[in-house]
Amino acid sequence: MSAHPLADYFRRAYFVLSAQKPADLPPDSGAEVAFAGRSNAGKSSALNTITDHRGLARTSKTPGRTQLINYFALDDERRLVDLPGYGYAKVSAEIRENWQAAMDHYLQHRVSLAGLVLIMDIRQALTPFDTDMLAWCRDMDMPAHILLTKADKLSRSEARAVLDKVHHYLAQYPSTATVQIFSALKKQGIDAAHEVLAQWLKIEIPQAKKSPGHKGRESGADNKSRF
Ligand code: GDP
Repeated sequence: MSAHPLADYFRRAYFVLSAQKPADLPPDSGAEVAFAGRSNAGKSSALNTITDHRGLARTSKTPGRTQLINYFALDDERRLVDLPGYGYAKVSAEIRENWQAAMDHYLQHRVSLAGLVLIMDIRQALTPFDTDMLAWCRDMDMPAHILLTKADKLSRSEARAVLDKVHHYLAQYPSTATVQIFSALKKQGIDAAHEVLAQWLKIEIPQAKKSPGHKGRESGADNKSRF
């Protein structure tokens, strides 16, 4: 299992509130990272996996009842934000318009937003929604990190081919966006995701403690290595 020191940090996440409208959002201070993606791409599962909480962000929600921005706190200054899934075919035009307005408002005005995690089902990456979000991040100078989820649904080489395709897409224009493979089912890619989030949220990565009596490598020769 993951022994990454950040895992304990993200495990602290707890639900704070659901915001229906901008006025409901928590104070715009500190830093937050928002998760966005098409409905069913695997956003809730990714959030649950990253925080190691089975039911933190609920999976398999009812269409039309998900138009809420859900907030999870890591500490007093740092939050994870579950943005409403985009693109349920069944929702009304009104809900769709409300979604658009709420998202536009959030993305344009949220000062504490430090980065966007874009969730893409690895079998359907770079939909028009995805490329719109990437273009927005580029135009706003907003860091973006793509999780290609459900990687377990593809063979290793197929997954690699999608990763290459997305890398190629990102290389087409200057962008700070990054991408990785992820699987909630196989718990794949968690450490890499933690590292990106920690960097954006300015979380000090705890160093593995060395015991004072540590006797290994006494000659010091090894200390001259790369660092
Ligand atoms: P959301 O609508 O984006 O929040 O998506 P969910 O997290 O609710 O996931 C949608 C469906 O995909 C559910 O049936 C999940 O069990 C499934 N799913 C999510 N992540 C994975 C994954 O990594 N692997 C597999 N095989 N299925 C997944």
